[in-house]
Amino acid sequence: MTQQQPVSKSTKIVATLGPATSSEEVLQQLILEGVNVARINFSHGSHEVHGTTIDTVRRIDGELGTYTAVLADLQGPKLRVGDIEGGEMMLEAGETLTVKVGTGMGKDGVVYTDYEAFAADVQPGERVLMDDGKLALTVTETNGKDEVRCDIVHGGPLRPRKGLNLPETKVSLPCITPKDAEDLEFALSKDVDWVGLSFVRHASDIVELKEKIAAAGKHAKVIAKIEKPEAIEDIDAIIDATDAVMVARGDLGVEMPMQEVPLLQKEIVTKCLDKSRPVIVATQMLESMIESATPTRAEVNDVANAVIDGADAVMLSGETSVGKYPLNAVRAMRQVIENIEAHGKVEYSERPPLHPDDERFISDSMCYNACRLARRVNAAAIVTMTFSGYTAIQVSSQRPKAKIYMFTANRRVLSQMSLVWGVFAMPYSKMVSTDHTIADIKYILYKGGKVKEGDFVIHLASMPIADAGMTNMVKLSRV
Ligand code: PEP
Repeated sequence: MTQQQPVSKSTKIVATLGPATSSEEVLQQLILEGVNVARINFSHGSHEVHGTTIDTVRRIDGELGTYTAVLADLQGPKLRVGDIEGGEMMLEAGETLTVKVGTGMGKDGVVYTDYEAFAADVQPGERVLMDDGKLALTVTETNGKDEVRCDIVHGGPLRPRKGLNLPETKVSLPCITPKDAEDLEFALSKDVDWVGLSFVRHASDIVELKEKIAAAGKHAKVIAKIEKPEAIEDIDAIIDATDAVMVARGDLGVEMPMQEVPLLQKEIVTKCLDKSRPVIVATQMLESMIESATPTRAEVNDVANAVIDGADAVMLSGETSVGKYPLNAVRAMRQVIENIEAHGKVEYSERPPLHPDDERFISDSMCYNACRLARRVNAAAIVTMTFSGYTAIQVSSQRPKAKIYMFTANRRVLSQMSLVWGVFAMPYSKMVSTDHTIADIKYILYKGGKVKEGDFVIHLASMPIADAGMTNMVKLSRV
């Protein structure tokens, strides 16, 4: 059996890679410390650097026998201000600021944005937020073409390339911008496991991305980043359309009143669990660790609460990409996760299949009954044999106490499933017979110290095994 990551927590960790984590040595330590998903943020950095980082992650995986998922996070229609003379401009409340469309140098009460439809899209009275909402302005006048005048409501220093949010404006930019299309082509050429789409507004945005991935002949799965009010309005259809979800609390808390984010997080996680969609809780989880070797107690509580809510994964952004203490941040996150899980605080939740006409009814029924049985007999492990990963996700979404071991002949799915709660993936390609496979896998788990003599193990598989069909069998046996 391949060597496994020594860490066996169920809730996964997504770490954003960047200058602080670009060296092979640091990356290897991060993976050994508990990182399951390497996030490449295409809002920053070049294809050359990202390509090298992805190659390094794959090489480390080869050496350690781990299966780190690579997530390419596309910037989406993120709006920004342009350059600013002297690196900073002071905005004073009560004064006016003119925002011009173009690429000029901001100075003397004028800043630029390269969002061409800005003046056409905004209306007088709408809010303009800058730098994660730290600066607030109101549109007073627009020429509909290239110039917008704003009153400054909350002032402060404005630095170059800071984000621009328009929570009350119907932004006309497409969800996949020309930059995203280029980044996507590159990411797919590197066979990334997951593609994150920022500022999703409708389920159709996800459908469009999936079509592009399929047209490229690739199998990357899609993560819908929820950070716009429009996405909240269309949340059920978005969850149905996507493969996974990210609660992107940074922009969500700017685009919507920030006090609404905690309940939105809980509602989105619950909906994702109900629909068996992996869900990541992201942003500012251990923010103070960008500068400090230890987290604040409130941050510890935030991570713990996301784990208790039932998130598949919790995410680090600046903490690991540019922070001074990336390893400490991953360790702190892992320790919080391990403590919550050791106390059994992630709720088991049954999901009976509802529609006998559904083509997945039989395999969903098997997964549901495997989890019930595991609970009844206090099984040590649920083993799924899968090519697509479907049954592993289905079992995981019920959050059983038994460990979930996924065996597959599909190399791609091995790393993809690293995002999914509780799933430990292992390669397996022998196809002698169902009886042989079950005995063989039990032996592999026993030899690897995953189960011990006398433990109950539940197998999910498809019979006959050579047909590689959908799961139609549950078997209970003792090691
Ligand atoms: C966020 O806004 O929470 C987020 C994850 O976005 P970004 O891609 O800008 O980090």
